[in-house]
Amino acid sequence: MTSRTRRQLLRDASIAALGIGLAGPLAGCGDDTVSSTSTWWPTQSPGSAALDDLAKQISGGVLRPGDAGYGPTSLPANGRFRSIRPAAIARCNNAADVAAAVTWSADNGLAPTVRGGGHSYSGFSTSPDLILDVSSMNSVTVDMAAGTITTGGSALNGDILDFTTGGPVFLPGGTCRGVGVGGLALGGGIGYNAHWAGLTSDLMVASTIVTADGEVRTLSASEHDDLFWACRGGAGGNFGVNTQFTFALTDAPRDDISFYRFEWTGAERAAQVLATFDQMLVDAPAALNAVAMAEATSIDGGSPRDAISVMSRGQYIGPIEELGDLVAPLLAVDEPDSTTLKTLAFWDAQEGFASGASANHSWGDISRYAAQPIPASAVDELVDLLVECPHRSADANGSLWSLGWIGGDVIDKFDRTETAYVHRGMNTLWRPTTVWPNDANPSVGRDLNEWTAAMIGVLAPHTPPESYQNFPNRDIVDPLEEYYAENLDRLIDIKTDYDPTDLFTNPQGIPIRSG
Ligand SMILES: Cc1cc2nc3c(=O)[nH]c(=O)nc-3n(C[C@H](O)[C@H](O)[C@H](O)COP(=O)(O)OP(=O)(O)OC[C@H]3O[C@@H](n4cnc5c(N)ncnc54)[C@H](O)[C@@H]3O)c2cc1C
Repeated sequence: MTSRTRRQLLRDASIAALGIGLAGPLAGCGDDTVSSTSTWWPTQSPGSAALDDLAKQISGGVLRPGDAGYGPTSLPANGRFRSIRPAAIARCNNAADVAAAVTWSADNGLAPTVRGGGHSYSGFSTSPDLILDVSSMNSVTVDMAAGTITTGGSALNGDILDFTTGGPVFLPGGTCRGVGVGGLALGGGIGYNAHWAGLTSDLMVASTIVTADGEVRTLSASEHDDLFWACRGGAGGNFGVNTQFTFALTDAPRDDISFYRFEWTGAERAAQVLATFDQMLVDAPAALNAVAMAEATSIDGGSPRDAISVMSRGQYIGPIEELGDLVAPLLAVDEPDSTTLKTLAFWDAQEGFASGASANHSWGDISRYAAQPIPASAVDELVDLLVECPHRSADANGSLWSLGWIGGDVIDKFDRTETAYVHRGMNTLWRPTTVWPNDANPSVGRDLNEWTAAMIGVLAPHTPPESYQNFPNRDIVDPLEEYYAENLDRLIDIKTDYDPTDLFTNPQGIPIRSG
C-alpha cells in the first residue's frame, strides 16, 4: 500500500467518523508532539534509484539527508515543526521542474509538498515525504502598460517590496519580508495597505499552476475560472503548485502620507485602548490602516498588571490633520507614554512596517474575525488573561493583536462567495500570538498554546466562527469551516475535479469528495 492511498484511507475514516466530510484528519490535534517519528501520514523512503531518476529531471537537482545544503533547506521558518524532515527536496526552478516532481511523486506514492517562504504557522510546508522547494522562483516584473505585476510562485514580500520601492506603483502584501507570495496570496494577504488597497488575493488577475496530473495550466477569469476562484483564498498547498502570479497594480501615493504610533503601559490602559480601537474601526475610512496590540512583558519584581505594554500604530493615506481627528479617541484614553504623529513618504512607511521573523524561535498564532466590536467586558477578560500569560520573558511571551486592516469598503466590495476568501463584512481580526525559543522546555510552548486557546474561548461567544486561513492552527476543531465557511462545499468540488487522488494535502487540507 502506498503512503498516499493509506493517507486517503485515514482521511476518509476521519471524515466518515465526523459524519460531515469537513474536518482534516488531525483536526484538534496539538502539534507539540509532532516529530519525524510521530508523523500524521506514513512515510515511505524512496529508493536511491528512484531519487536518482528524479534528480535527472529537476534542473536544480535533489537534496537528500546528508547532502550539503539539505540541513538549512529542510528547515521551516517556524522552529516548532523543525523535527519534520523530508525524505528529499526537489529544487524546482521552473514549471517544467515542478511538473516532473509532481508526476514523480504520484508515480512513487509520495506526497509532494510545496515550500515557498516556509512561514506556515502550522508547518504545512514540512513533510517527511518530498518537498518541492520553489524558493528560486522569485522573479518580479512590472508591466506598466498593462498595469500588472508578475511574480514567480515564491517571490517574497521583501523581493516585491524591494522591486517596487520608490516607484509609482505597488502591490499590497503582508508585513513579514520572508513570507512567500504563494502562501500569502493563495490564502488572502493582509497588511498595512489592505484596508485601502485590498487583499493581495483580490488583486490576482492570473496564475499558472501545475496540477496533480502534471499539467501546467493558466488560470484567470476566463480560463479554468473555477480553479482561479479557488486560488483567491482557498489557501496554498491544496490544488497544485502555483508557479507564477499576475496581480493588478495599485498607484503608490505621490504625496506624503500620515503615520501614528502611540504607546502606553498597564492592563487598564490595554483594556481601554483595545476597546476604543474596536469602536474606532466601525467608521474608519478605507484610508486608515491600523492595528492595536497589548503584550505581556517581563514582570521584573513589579506587578503583573503593570507589566503590559500597549501599542497602536497605523498609516493614513491623507493629511495629518485628518489622521489626528481619527485617532483622537485613542489619545483621549490617557496620555501615551510615547506619541508619534507625523507625515512621511509612503515608501519610508512601508520600509518601517516591514519586519522579519525571529530566527531560532517557534510561534503559535490563532485568529478570530469579529464582525462588530466585542463587549467591553470581553475585552476586560482578554486583558485579564493577558496578565495571567504563563510566560513573560523577552523571547517567550504572549500578545494580543487587533488587526484593523481586514474590513472596510474596499475589501467588502467583494461578496463572501465571489472569491474563496469568505471573510467579508468584518470589523477586525483578533490574533492572540505566542513566541518561544526552539530550545525551551516543551512545556513552554504547550502552556502558551493553551493560553491562546483560552483567549479564543473568550472571543468565541462574540464573534462568528471564522479564522484566517493564513494563520492556520492545528488546535482548531473545525478548521475548514472556520477558514472557508459557505465556500467550503465549492472548494471540495474543485479539489475533487483537479486533484481526484488527493495528492496535495496537509493536516488541514481541503478534502476530496468520497464516493
Ligand atoms: C512572521 C510571520 C508574519 C506574517 N505576516 C503576515 C501578514 O502580515 N499578512 C498575512 O496575510 N499573512 C502573514 N503571515 C502568514 C502568511 O501569509 C502565511 O503563513 C503564508 O502561508 C506563508 O507563505 P510562505 O510561502 O512563506 O510559507 P510556506 O510555509 O512555504 O507555505 C504555506 C502554505 O502554502 C503552500 N504554498 C507555498 N507556496 C505555494 C505555491 N507557490 N503554490 C501552491 N502552494 C504554495 C505551502 O505548501 C503551505 O501549505 C505571516 C506569517 C509569519 C510566520
